[in-house]
Amino acid sequence: MAHQDTMEKLVALCLNRGFIYPSSEIYGGINGFWDYGPLGCEMRNNIKAAWWQRMVRVRNDMVGLDSSIIANPETWVASGHVENFHDPMVDCRRCKRRFRADQVDSRCSDAEDGAHDLTEPKQFNLMLKTRIGASEDSAIEAYLRAETCQSIFLDFKRVMGSSRQKPPFGIAQIGKAFRNEITPRNFIFRSREFEQMEMEFFCPPAEASDWFQYFREYRFQSHLDLGIDPARLRWHEHGPDELAHYCREAYDIEFEFPFGWQEFEGIHDRFDFDLKAHSAHSGKDQTYTNPETKERYTPFVVETSVGVDRTMLVLLCSAFTEDEVGGEKRTLLKLSPSIAPIKVAVFPLSKKIAEPAERIAAELQRRFNTAFDVSGNIGRRYRRQDEIGTPFCVTYDFDSETDQKVTVRERDSTEQERISIDSLSGYLSQKILGY
Ligand code: ATP
Repeated sequence: MAHQDTMEKLVALCLNRGFIYPSSEIYGGINGFWDYGPLGCEMRNNIKAAWWQRMVRVRNDMVGLDSSIIANPETWVASGHVENFHDPMVDCRRCKRRFRADQVDSRCSDAEDGAHDLTEPKQFNLMLKTRIGASEDSAIEAYLRAETCQSIFLDFKRVMGSSRQKPPFGIAQIGKAFRNEITPRNFIFRSREFEQMEMEFFCPPAEASDWFQYFREYRFQSHLDLGIDPARLRWHEHGPDELAHYCREAYDIEFEFPFGWQEFEGIHDRFDFDLKAHSAHSGKDQTYTNPETKERYTPFVVETSVGVDRTMLVLLCSAFTEDEVGGEKRTLLKLSPSIAPIKVAVFPLSKKIAEPAERIAAELQRRFNTAFDVSGNIGRRYRRQDEIGTPFCVTYDFDSETDQKVTVRERDSTEQERISIDSLSGYLSQKILGY
């Protein structure tokens, strides 16, 4: 129950403070779709920037791609999604609700004993369809991509040729994906429109197992570096009956959400499944010939795949904290400074000294997303920022006029330090960016 309570509080905070709203709410919303408000989109951008930095910018063996959401529908025939991307679906004859067979709600609302009367599972394809073309007759049916990686396979040769990369190297992409989930649930955990951050690493077949181990560790460490509690992370290895049709070996990094342990990120050994499938279906050769050894092979692929939305939920769940300061309850988000939507808030102690404080805020704004707040007592202003995860608050008081110093207060410890205005930007830079 306590966990349920946490989730309810978190959802309310996200709604009230402008992180996440139900999509098209005035029309009653639409199940499985969400909008991200002012703070939500800042946070998402930070999540994507942190991933991109880690996966692309700091590495010489990784490059980026931004492909179209809709591809030639043959893509999804070759990838096996048209034939295999199904979830088993069951209906309850009593409450008439529809479930994914492995996610049936524990109680039937229309049966006295609470037991569902379920139909046999039917296969349900999760790809969302659309039609392209002006006239009804000539329009073709296409799919909204169910995962971002297929275009990485399609563009593999182009990218390799134009970026002077050769195996082992990786292509990374961030973009929207769509799945007609049977039971979207748990807030943004499982939605029908979501964003993925995927990386496909192309390597000689003999190196695939080593790269697989390497990226398992690399990804796990990157979650720890964002401040996620290690006690709430664990590995789950896919058994033979769980493996997707394109996988030889797969591990999930799971997170302990308030609603239980669930998948957070997937690390997959896709061997040469995709490149071979596209090669056969398109008739275009997808092999690589090593110019030195003349060895010709279809590269094996190691994939890391994580949702932006799911990362956001993980970070919000692990940051959500309630504590007491000076005998008063407070809610705070212990987000790492790199992820927090607002990095610093500037408060003049009184409206009379708003102007010099505003100048400080304007200066900081050039480097960090900065808030300026003049209303309410200082305690209330601190609480407002704590609740949205702002790591630092700067107060300009009447002494600041004479000593040219301000008080910097840290969110988690609530400790305060007096810092000269001249060195404020450098001080915050060190704390927020680490340099
Ligand atoms: P499941 O079995 O839970 O439906 P999956 O194993 O099919 O998920 P993958 O195809 O491995 O999921 O997707 C990779 C990542 O994309 C997931 O780890 C998750 O972070 C994200 N993701 C997948 N589906 C959704 C969704 N419906 N909503 C939000 N994020 C998703």
